[in-house]
Amino acid sequence: MASSSLSSSHLRPTSEQVQRVSGQIQAVRQRISQAASHAKRRDPPRLVAISKLHPPTSILAAHTSCSPPQIHFGENYAQELESKAKVLPSSVQWHFVGKLQSNKAKVLAAIPNLYLVETLDSVKAAQALQKALVNLETKREGPLRVYLQVNTSGEDAKGGLPPLGGHEQGDKGGELVQLAQTIVQDCDRLELSGLMTIGAAAESRKGDGNGFQSKEEALEANSDFRVLSETRLALVRALRQAKVESKNSRYTQLLSGDDEEGGLELSMGMSADLEVAIWAGSDNVRVGTDCFGVRPKSRDEAMESMKHELEPPASA
Ligand SMILES: *Cc1c(COP(=O)(O)O)cnc(C)c1O
Repeated sequence: MASSSLSSSHLRPTSEQVQRVSGQIQAVRQRISQAASHAKRRDPPRLVAISKLHPPTSILAAHTSCSPPQIHFGENYAQELESKAKVLPSSVQWHFVGKLQSNKAKVLAAIPNLYLVETLDSVKAAQALQKALVNLETKREGPLRVYLQVNTSGEDAKGGLPPLGGHEQGDKGGELVQLAQTIVQDCDRLELSGLMTIGAAAESRKGDGNGFQSKEEALEANSDFRVLSETRLALVRALRQAKVESKNSRYTQLLSGDDEEGGLELSMGMSADLEVAIWAGSDNVRVGTDCFGVRPKSRDEAMESMKHELEPPASA
């Protein structure tokens, strides 16, 4: 069973891990607060430390040795997330950022401290998550937050639904509206909280984020961030125009508020482009390499070398 307090894990990070990881996360936090202050953002974005392929002891080092503690961590494989969640404190808030297969809905739904699924991109997966949450023996305290993944770069290899708004309207964005509508109307165990993009690697190298004067410059520099921002506005407009209704009061702002963002968050920005993303209005940056270092090349070897840490603690 997962232990509940911050420090009660049976795992012990080495002092080298503690020094290295807390130093790196401190540096990322500084970049975030500096960009947020230059961009005159009232609320800096949430930092999600993407911990895929890094061992539980590194995550624990970040969780217990940073000040304030690092709370949000992200993983892109359901099984890896499941086994890490079992050996780490329940005070960690997990984000799932990988390809979401409907047959993994049960695994994800059963993780009590899963905070957010960032990569929802089909009605089928939404319904599978909803069903898995309804069938849980021990119910979660609140609904499971979800972001809809948008394929802003149009690359085949990237997941997500086509964007909305801008020039290429058509009915291409219809799927996104349909998915949002399904969640709002039929999935009471889910909470539609925002939109997410990964974006093209080439776009992430544009603009250095420290030379901007305005949000418009950032949106000009990175087309993925621009498309995601426009998609949020267009989605909110489409839901209001279609007069979508919900029994749930948590959607009042989205469906009948008068602000154009509808309370939806944007998840965009990684190690290479987090400053640009913050200028462009990101609420949630996902930073792996700059928090934990370069990831191991081989998934199999990484999993093998952390295997002993993923075993349940020997009972005392
Ligand atoms: C791995 C990953 C990241 C982190 O990427 P870095 O470049 O290492 O910061 C962010 N988002 C998603 C969806 C990822 O899979």
